[in-house]
Amino acid sequence: MKILVNDGIDPTGKRLLEEAGFVVDTNKIAQADLATKLNDYVAICVRSATKVRAELIDQTPNLKAIARGGVGLDNIDVEHAQSKGIKVINTPAASSRSVAELVFSHLFTLARHIHTSNRRMPSEGNGSFNELKKAFSEGIELTGRTIGIIGIGRIGQETASIALGLGMDVIAVDPFIKSVNIPFGPKAHKATVTIETKSMDEMLAKADMISLHVPFLGKAVLGAEEFNKMKKGVLIVNASRGGTIDEDALINALNSGIVAGAGLDVFDNEPNPRQDLLSHAKISLSPHIGASTEEAQEKIGVELAEQLIAALK
Ligand code: NAD
Repeated sequence: MKILVNDGIDPTGKRLLEEAGFVVDTNKIAQADLATKLNDYVAICVRSATKVRAELIDQTPNLKAIARGGVGLDNIDVEHAQSKGIKVINTPAASSRSVAELVFSHLFTLARHIHTSNRRMPSEGNGSFNELKKAFSEGIELTGRTIGIIGIGRIGQETASIALGLGMDVIAVDPFIKSVNIPFGPKAHKATVTIETKSMDEMLAKADMISLHVPFLGKAVLGAEEFNKMKKGVLIVNASRGGTIDEDALINALNSGIVAGAGLDVFDNEPNPRQDLLSHAKISLSPHIGASTEEAQEKIGVELAEQLIAALK
């Protein structure tokens, strides 16, 4: 039985599939040629590049499973596939820890002005060393601070787990969840804390740092009204989706000093974020790399392989 891996897979995932007896073809087939070639395979593995639409599904009666490495299924006509008895698989949890760690990359960066040091030290040369040393002398520790987590799903919970390990207080906001148990700490010393969710207003009034972990549902979760309720000097991180923060309101809040710094992994207009965000001195930037770690890629590969083997055997 042949499986087409059209957008790449981690070598461990490929090995697991081969050990289970499948022939794994990693030679990419162009989108336009899939209609004539995909019927030679029992399953196709994709990321976001390859589209598996109803028309293609109708032309490939031999297909038994469609596997998507990652979260979103926008590139697959899921209901149509399922109506034909084709299993649709994805790996929504595999990258959660990596995204949560990126949140703390940004928070530690902002807390100690690393983003500004990295911009200014090369361009200003040694002459400004002592000036910058003085300017950045008021860094802060994360330990003992309160983090507000908006959306306490998979990634929100991993973010809470890291925060608890650092000795931070956690206030979670999630209209669909009442309480969650968050395990944290190393395997040998695991502890669990139960966190009851609170109202947005209570979180905004108390949080020193705020991280968003919600889907984009058509309108911003943080806009001018919310920024005006935050503690002065708050740090904000967005590693969820563009659109969940009103970017105009964020820039105003950074310029007025309500927000001391923001870490952004996602943007409204990807892959062309607006220039005033990219060049803002108080913003730490990353190009939508939340899930892009060796560990997440391996977990995605292994989870895909295990689910495919279960679905096809
Ligand atoms: P999830 O579905 O497990 O959790 C989302 C949570 O948000 C749910 O608990 C839901 O109840 C809650 N929620 C929905 N609307 C809300 C609102 N208005 N206020 C507060 N909470 C609300 O999703 P997840 O896997 O944790 O992913 C979270 C976000 O991270 C998604 O937008 C996802 O696309 C994004 N993501 C980003 C990257 C990256 O590379 N930066 C990688 C993976 C996922």
